[in-house]
Amino acid sequence: MADGKAQKIWALPGAMVTLPKSLLMLGADSAPITLPAPSFLIEHPKGLILFDTGCNPKILDDPVAYWGPMAANMPFEWKKSETLDKQIERVGYKASDVKYVVLSHGHLDHAGGLTHFPNAKFIAGAGELRYAYWPDPDRRWAFILEDFLPTRNYQWIELGQDQDLFGDGAVTFLYTPGHTPGECSILVNLPHRRVLITGDTVHTRASLEHEIAMPFSVNHMQARQSLQRIKSIRDISGAQLWITHDPDDWKENPRELD
Ligand SMILES: [Zn+2]
Repeated sequence: MADGKAQKIWALPGAMVTLPKSLLMLGADSAPITLPAPSFLIEHPKGLILFDTGCNPKILDDPVAYWGPMAANMPFEWKKSETLDKQIERVGYKASDVKYVVLSHGHLDHAGGLTHFPNAKFIAGAGELRYAYWPDPDRRWAFILEDFLPTRNYQWIELGQDQDLFGDGAVTFLYTPGHTPGECSILVNLPHRRVLITGDTVHTRASLEHEIAMPFSVNHMQARQSLQRIKSIRDISGAQLWITHDPDDWKENPRELD
């Protein structure tokens, strides 16, 4: 593996969403758990890469109008001063500086900010876009068509396998399907550490420990295999795992990694 490096990762805060635990892990009780829905900005010599885009700012005015009736079951905390474009400015860049957007998957807490980046190149896992446009009926609530419709003429690339994005080993797209058809994760080589950001391949430390994927996954066996693969890649590469939605990872990890 080439030893190129990205310079930095910033974890950008998004909405904090409250859900029952049982939605995240089969067999868990239904006690509420509050999860972060962050994005990650990665600085690489060839340009800025964003991993995930959080929720759509339209929910700040009227969540039910934008997300539909399910919004009533997913209370969140988020302010207008905390939208993704403002978070990017806070670390010294503009949304228009982002060259690549890697979308872990199309759910409403990840794909809401796509239109901040009309000139970027978008990368998703194979099958994700078609599924996001036409999900199975019982999963339709989690994909907001309005998040995707304005992006039809954006430059999208779908990858059906792992890919070293710049050919230098610095940023590797990991194809980890199962939660959704094109779920992906990202492995970043930094000057002082490796970080593997999971997207929703795994939701919490407990799901990782028990190797059990979310009941809402499109393909349970595939989701479990992807979760196990993430663990293996972590062990082989020595990477630190950052579980996107895990509240303890969010609490304990610094917002800036190098
Ligand atoms: Zn999610």
